[in-house]
Amino acid sequence: MNVVPRIVKKSDLTKFKTNLLDLKREILEIETASSGSKKPVALDQSSVGRVTRIDAIQQQQMAVESSRRRTETMLKIEAALRRIQSDEFGICVKCGDYIATARLDIDPTFVKCVNCS
Ligand SMILES: [Zn+2]
Repeated sequence: MNVVPRIVKKSDLTKFKTNLLDLKREILEIETASSGSKKPVALDQSSVGRVTRIDAIQQQQMAVESSRRRTETMLKIEAALRRIQSDEFGICVKCGDYIATARLDIDPTFVKCVNCS
């Protein structure tokens, strides 16, 4: 017997949409809060020592990397929201089968079923 739900219920869709929108707002807040730390480190800061400058460069690189990951996640969230809008949410992009709701609970931006990913 197949226990995997064959379709995403309307109530679940609303839940996923809320989750996605919350996630989106969270990312935007972090992005806004950290936008200053992405700025390149100035080369001639006589007041800061060499080690401090290396630290600052590493921190800046980490900030850029985290920002890149947030942009990636943001694109996935936008795509998932579009998929909800167009009734394609929860359908595997590869085989067209339904993605298990339990899987979407883990990450609502998943676009493939367990067999295809
Ligand atoms: Zn699939």
